[in-house]
Amino acid sequence: MPSRATEPPDIAAKILDGALPQADPVETWGGRGNGRHCDGCEQRIVATDMQIKAHFAGDLAYRFHPACFVGWLQAAEELRDGRVEI
Ligand SMILES: [Zn+2]
Repeated sequence: MPSRATEPPDIAAKILDGALPQADPVETWGGRGNGRHCDGCEQRIVATDMQIKAHFAGDLAYRFHPACFVGWLQAAEELRDGRVEI
């Protein structure tokens, strides 16, 4: 079974679709995964993985693997700067 987890998710497209926010989070938390899905790559964040939970204005919260969170930060910054490569 091929693993999609190693491929970079198309986070920029998700931001443009409105599935992920583009604004900076109000607050971020790190902790152990609890089996919920990552909002970046859609894979489960298992207990052996770290989970980043990012809170946004409007009571929104999204969960990410650390690598997906970094990918989201970079994509959001590139979109703000107009450096979109989709
Ligand atoms: Zn992920």
